[in-house]
Amino acid sequence: MSLPEIQERINRACVRSGRQPSEVQLIAVSKNHSLEQIQQHVLRYGSFPLGENRVQEWREKNAARPEIEWHFIGNLQRNKVKYCQNIHLFHSVNSERLADEINKRAEQWGKHVGVLLEINVAAEASKEGVTLAEAEALKTHMQGLAHLHLRGLMTMAPYDANPENARPYFRRLRELRDAWGLQELSMGMSGDFEVAIEEGATMVRIGSALFR
Ligand SMILES: *Cc1c(COP(=O)(O)O)cnc(C)c1O
Repeated sequence: MSLPEIQERINRACVRSGRQPSEVQLIAVSKNHSLEQIQQHVLRYGSFPLGENRVQEWREKNAARPEIEWHFIGNLQRNKVKYCQNIHLFHSVNSERLADEINKRAEQWGKHVGVLLEINVAAEASKEGVTLAEAEALKTHMQGLAHLHLRGLMTMAPYDANPENARPYFRRLRELRDAWGLQELSMGMSGDFEVAIEEGATMVRIGSALFR
């Protein structure tokens, strides 16, 4: 699907749910794709934020295109945070130790770093992220770190061929975001982004649908 076609589906999901398209940011997930493919499928349509999930791969792309707004969406090892000064937003902070490391580096970089807290709403054993029961302690910890700016929450719904089955997980994340007075909700991927938007997503992370 082309980027304009995806954007059109985003717009329609917004209209259906009484939202403004400007409330939903498309993060084009460019992992596993070359800069040439990214140019072809994404950047020819404008300067979209890009999402990457492996530090080494991202560093190579960042060296060539440092002006891009890069989002880190994958599981991040603490010993690689030091390379991530040019990451605009970390979507998947899921432990106190990782939060501490990003905070320490942010202080060295002399800036405040935007982060999201990753919650494994369905408590799937195969996925990263804290459980709902663990989330409040991590939120409190993150909000105590002077160089982190906790902007919102992130989740991945369990894989399911029927996107409707993701709805309860997205809804739960939104309730928590509202209860905590945070801004961002990073949820929804190629298979379920429309349901995520209906449930309040402010960022959708779309990869495979864009590059097919
Ligand atoms: C790969 C990935 C995506 C994009 O998934 P698609 O199904 O290809 O759209 C979104 N979020 C995370 C965390 C990912 O790793």
